[in-house]
Amino acid sequence: MLDLVIRGGTIVDGSGGAPFTGDVGVRDGRIAEVGRVDEPARRTLDAGGLLVTPGWVDVHTHYDGQVTWDSQLSPSCWHGVTTIVMGNCGVGFAPVRPGAHEYLIKLMEGVEDIPGTALAEGIAWGEWESFPEYLDAIARRSYAVDVGAQVPHAALRFYVMGERGADHEQAPNAAEIETMGQLVRDAVRAGALGFTTSRTKNHRASDGRFTPSLTAGADELLGISRIFGEAGQGVFEVVSDFAGREQEWELFREMVRQSGRPMSISIGQNDASPEAWRGMLAAISAANAAGLPIKAQVAARAIGLLLGFEATVHPFSSHPSFREIAALPLAQKVARLREPGLRKRLLAEQPAPSFAALVWQFERLFTLGDPPDYEPPEEKSIAAEAARLGVTPAEHALDLLLERDGHALLYRPFLNYSAFSLDAVRDMLLHEFTVPGLGDAGAHCGMICDGSFPTFLLAYWGRGRTRGARIPIETLVKGQTADTAALVGLHDRGRIAPGLRADLNLIDLARLGLRAPEIVYDLPAGGKRLMQRATGYEATVLAGNVTFEKGEATGTLPGRLVRGPQAA
Ligand SMILES: [Zn+2]
Repeated sequence: MLDLVIRGGTIVDGSGGAPFTGDVGVRDGRIAEVGRVDEPARRTLDAGGLLVTPGWVDVHTHYDGQVTWDSQLSPSCWHGVTTIVMGNCGVGFAPVRPGAHEYLIKLMEGVEDIPGTALAEGIAWGEWESFPEYLDAIARRSYAVDVGAQVPHAALRFYVMGERGADHEQAPNAAEIETMGQLVRDAVRAGALGFTTSRTKNHRASDGRFTPSLTAGADELLGISRIFGEAGQGVFEVVSDFAGREQEWELFREMVRQSGRPMSISIGQNDASPEAWRGMLAAISAANAAGLPIKAQVAARAIGLLLGFEATVHPFSSHPSFREIAALPLAQKVARLREPGLRKRLLAEQPAPSFAALVWQFERLFTLGDPPDYEPPEEKSIAAEAARLGVTPAEHALDLLLERDGHALLYRPFLNYSAFSLDAVRDMLLHEFTVPGLGDAGAHCGMICDGSFPTFLLAYWGRGRTRGARIPIETLVKGQTADTAALVGLHDRGRIAPGLRADLNLIDLARLGLRAPEIVYDLPAGGKRLMQRATGYEATVLAGNVTFEKGEATGTLPGRLVRGPQAA
């Protein structure tokens, strides 16, 4: 007797092979049979007309705090994700000395825009000090998705060096490097999936200081890498500005060489040098040819800011006249902004220079719509629309932001959209040494809502795109399942094959899509975050249990901590 059988679906099994029609039988949380299944089952799901895929594995999330207060792990759970990996970009909450969590909160607030009050009140501080204790705290809980954790360099550095680890004036001494390496090695032996670090000036704590690992030198990174390598398992995740380009590559190659551990690096298209990513992918190909397993994590679309009166920033958020009313509740703010006097004053002002590049470039600002259009043509920009309407771009933006009683959001794609097209993203996704990632689910609560990347990947690239070439469904599914799972060493999932985990999605591809993002106020301490729902997921199955049906949670929580890499 099987526990579950999924009948008559179009199986896209994660291998990259052509889809085929068949059944999937499940027993004891694993896939028992694929093809024609005759054995009776306690429960049957009819998948006629639906795709049956492995559950998505999202390797780039920031749920490090949320795992302690949210068993669902939304929004990922609504997007067919069955395994999340957190602790990316060098930020997280373990190890931490008793009472020393204030700085880690400021860092997460600054780097990932997660409200500090939510982290202070929501996280069960005191439940752990070491990284293994943090893993134990997660292991005591149950979730709607499986959870993998990585050791973040910033927390590690602050733990070992104290304030010196955050102020960029001193390098760690040899003993401190040794300690950091041992802590990573022991955390990985206890079940951490890897070690992550950030070398980008885009990452700052809310106190203004750059993220601690920014200035970590070769001694430190190679020292940690060598001892990490003694564990014989685990992966690196790295984000970098690639300052001092060839030196930076040499450092990454050495980290991989000296540890024997694979690495993934975030890559995107930057408006300042829109072709640089091609060189980076060439460097990654060369590293692989030299026997060094390095992959790029790439985004499924542009990485974009959402701007609005409820969001963290918008075109007018630094204007003096807006600052005067910034603290008012939304309804009052909207009422004031509709007063002709204030409107006139506001439209006569300019943004602070530090804001202008992002929020005041109206030729790169768009309305998003519902369903949202993530590949808007240049002629649909706020600047172009304003020209047609005969008003200034700022005036038009203000009118748009006041729509829906001030709940409206504008979209400012800032990476991967240099040419007003996602063709570069397609090239990145199809590159041999890339995996889909970078969604940052759980983070950027008031600015970015890219936890929906897995849904977008299949819905847009597999079906919806009309502005250019699409990508075969089987390639997309492999990318978001087998490839991401393998990236972090989870070989027990990501494909539909006998013996592997029964983590599955039943998808109505014709209906698969995204709803418009919206701001909700459901974080601890009433904190706000951007949320986004999906359509088209008929069911999601985790370890053989139906966790979501038609987009709603069934209430079952089979998700657990994934301790370390898993064999097939
Ligand atoms: Zn990240």
